[in-house]
Amino acid sequence: SEFVKEEFSRGMLRIKTVEDILTPLKDCFMLPSSAVLDFSTMSEIMQSGYTRVPIYEEERSNIVEILYVKDLALVDPDDCTPMTTITKFYNHPLHFVFNDTKLDAMLEEFKKGNSHMAIVQKVNNEGEGDPFYEVLGLVTLEDVIEEIIKSEILDE
Ligand code: ADP
Repeated sequence: SEFVKEEFSRGMLRIKTVEDILTPLKDCFMLPSSAVLDFSTMSEIMQSGYTRVPIYEEERSNIVEILYVKDLALVDPDDCTPMTTITKFYNHPLHFVFNDTKLDAMLEEFKKGNSHMAIVQKVNNEGEGDPFYEVLGLVTLEDVIEEIIKSEILDE
């Protein structure tokens, strides 16, 4: 019945976590905060096809800001504007979530907030040293919606 179907889909969302569906850090298109918005960098961003680009400092695991491709509308590549000039100006909020966040909770977060992307981190206490936050990747509303659709199709 429709009710059973809906409960099944909701069940999946209650069990699965953002870690199950994220885009791993190694596959994320990101740029360093030291980048300059010259012709080459702007072409690279356009060619990536993504609407949001995490910006990291020193290491890819250290995401500090987020660039929206639409922020580039008024940027002239001839000006060679530093990346940080643009990210500091727009200052889009950066949203972090833990790896064990369930998809139903993530969906609610996305519905509440204005940002539809979150950086997934986990507490790494495997090594000898102090526990630290490890960035695993990113998750977007699109990833959660894809899961909902998949679970609905599975159930047909
Ligand atoms: P976009 O609007 O950029 O296409 P979506 O939110 O529609 O992004 O997400 C589509 C897929 O691309 C998702 O799997 C998401 O995790 C992934 N994604 C989004 N931004 C990036 C990025 N900068 N680098 C790598 N993958 C990304």
